[in-house]
Amino acid sequence: MQIDGFRGRLITAGHSEYDTARAVWNGAVDRHPRLIARCGDTADAAAAVRFAREHDLEIAVRGGGHNVAGTAVCDDGIVIDLSAMRGVSVDPAGRRARVQGGALWGDVDRATQAHGLATTGGIVSHTGVAGLTLGGGLGFLMRGHGLAVDNLLEAEVVTAEGGIVRASADEHPDLFWALRGGGGNFGVVTSFRFALHPVGPAVLAGPVFWAAEETTEVLRFYRDFAARAPDELGSVVRLGTVPPLPAVPEHLHGRPAVAVACCHSGTVEAGERAVRALRRFGRPLVDLLAPTPYAAFQGALDDTVRHGWHYHWKATDLAGLSDDAITVIAEHACAARSPRSYAAVFHLGGAVARVPRDATAYAGRDVAHHIVIDAAWLPEESGRVAAAETAWARRFLRALRPHAAGGVYVNFLDSDDGAGRVREAYGDGTYRRLAEVKAKYDPDNAFHHNKNIPPG
Ligand SMILES: Cc1cc2nc3c(=O)[nH]c(=O)nc-3n(C[C@H](O)[C@H](O)[C@H](O)COP(=O)(O)OP(=O)(O)OC[C@H]3O[C@@H](n4cnc5c(N)ncnc54)[C@H](O)[C@@H]3O)c2cc1C
Repeated sequence: MQIDGFRGRLITAGHSEYDTARAVWNGAVDRHPRLIARCGDTADAAAAVRFAREHDLEIAVRGGGHNVAGTAVCDDGIVIDLSAMRGVSVDPAGRRARVQGGALWGDVDRATQAHGLATTGGIVSHTGVAGLTLGGGLGFLMRGHGLAVDNLLEAEVVTAEGGIVRASADEHPDLFWALRGGGGNFGVVTSFRFALHPVGPAVLAGPVFWAAEETTEVLRFYRDFAARAPDELGSVVRLGTVPPLPAVPEHLHGRPAVAVACCHSGTVEAGERAVRALRRFGRPLVDLLAPTPYAAFQGALDDTVRHGWHYHWKATDLAGLSDDAITVIAEHACAARSPRSYAAVFHLGGAVARVPRDATAYAGRDVAHHIVIDAAWLPEESGRVAAAETAWARRFLRALRPHAAGGVYVNFLDSDDGAGRVREAYGDGTYRRLAEVKAKYDPDNAFHHNKNIPPG
């Protein structure tokens, strides 16, 4: 098979690489594309889009391949695979980075930290830059420096016609608005330009763990601690068993626990002050907060969410951490059977909340906490364990419904979250505006293998 003007690698069912090339992070996703077009540059991506359109092929676009719903790969059609496009170039004086569309956050952190700089990226370093950014982009730096989309200055986009355009505040501003939260609906982004900020290299970061029996007290304390935290302090609560990481004492591995992981992006001294009350609260099982290289901290959770395990996620924005919501969280969080399952509560606010709601397509500006319930099990456990874990996540979400804020972060939606939940992620006004931009840039809905916003 050949594609005019394509100089990358074409992988079809007969190739030895086919099975690895079609695999994504969630091992439960098992799709068989007709063709994987592994692009070397933007011209390859444009040629692949034109080919797909001419041959009326289903299109999937792959950045880091991390999305739990597995939308980076499709059955029968073409995967426009950017996984070989991972370049990052940094302009340290201008505090800017240009990042190719298949890069992972570990690539960005490594290149930018070489200059003592960073931008907001995800909390697991093997997550893709593209999918994460296009949905909004939460991370430890967001309260100080905004979401990933708030740092996005420009994107190079292959359109549904196979053309190449630049989207920024000055060029195609409607497209630029939609790309900052609207997901992969509007084109293939082959490069991003981000603003960078001085961070580290050493930051005060790490988790503090308490026994699961103390979840209610810890979460009540955390609610007030987080509400008063300086913008430089990012934190995520993790509820589940203690992961068997080398940094954690072995006798705690596998023990049900609640952890608050923090990262302070200012000086280590300011970080020490900001976390003092947290580490003094109750009787922690272990306190791993310490001056740590930022890039190393960003990779610290990588082994707790391995490629190839099977996953099912449920998520919602929380109306707040009320006592009743905390009771539900404490009751369900450690009821999973698999030691790999957990729930995570992200704390937003700060710079995220200061961006006007209509400035970008990311819609959850006024939400202080997102929860994501991550059921995870081994591939060989795909029968009863899979069913039990999936049921746990669904039950947990149902119980949280009365405490939900009526929104959800689009990047946490799974394959069984349908059109209604995509609309919920944006709210009616933003959704309508996104549908209009979609009608302008992709009227045939060629890019629909995603959390789809049909043209309107
Ligand atoms: C372990 C784990 C941790 C996570 N942590 C965070 C976190 O801290 N913060 C956060 O915000 N999210 C987080 N997420 C969610 C994450 O944002 C999404 O999974 C996101 O889709 C991952 O991006 P990707 O490029 O790897 O996705 P992929 O699976 O490659 O793609 C997902 C979709 O994004 C679109 N897409 C991908 N690349 C492109 C491109 N170059 N151009 C156009 N469209 C594209 C396509 O529609 C595609 O279907 C996490 C996910 C996982 C699995």
